[in-house]
Amino acid sequence: MTRALDVVILGPPGAGKGTQAKRLAAAFDLLHISTGDMLREEVSKASGLGAEAKGYMDRGDLVPDELVGKMLSKLLHGRRAALGCVYDGYPRTPAQEALLEDVLAELNRRVDVTLYLNVPDKEIVARITGRRSCRACGAIYHVVTQRPKKEGVCDACGAPLTQRDDDREQVVRERLKVYHKHTAPLLELYKSRGILREVDGSAAPDEVFTRLREAMGKVSA
Ligand code: AMP
Repeated sequence: MTRALDVVILGPPGAGKGTQAKRLAAAFDLLHISTGDMLREEVSKASGLGAEAKGYMDRGDLVPDELVGKMLSKLLHGRRAALGCVYDGYPRTPAQEALLEDVLAELNRRVDVTLYLNVPDKEIVARITGRRSCRACGAIYHVVTQRPKKEGVCDACGAPLTQRDDDREQVVRERLKVYHKHTAPLLELYKSRGILREVDGSAAPDEVFTRLREAMGKVSA
């Protein structure tokens, strides 16, 4: 069996991590792990974890490390994660990074590469506030740059498109603040390990994907 490949995708909220992580996971046969999607699912199921997480998410704050860590650790020990994963929205703090390393070490693995999608703050707000997503299948659209064929309806599955509560402008600004304070310092850490690859996330999505693939190709070759 080939060695598992573990890829972190880092960048501010709205940089395109979700879209690109899904495509990379499909291209490299890896499990796409989005802690944001997992948390939103818990909220929509109204589970205990969802109820606990909702308040933080609505404010644009981070959900406590411990809650997210448990979810991640369980998933990583499962069979679906055995070939490797693309981590989208995790880690977001130094403590989460330490936990990821610990769990991967238990599995004789480590983060192989960190892809940094760099997008300036001023572009982020326009991007996120126009974002619409399908709650049924997770497909992502934008009211200006990636419109569905029929307004408000998912091309892939026909379900209605909605705006995430935390994609409202005021919350987006808070999420950016949280990103710069807690998550951006991880870039230095991955850089010092020599595994950080930076890609300009302002380019068109297909172009970004090509560049990310190239950065990945060098690692997986
Ligand atoms: P995302 O879809 O990745 O932008 O995540 C949406 C929201 O879920 C974030 O603003 C946080 O409130 C929460 N969240 C997602 N991932 C994490 C994480 N790794 N740690 C803490 N909170 C998270």
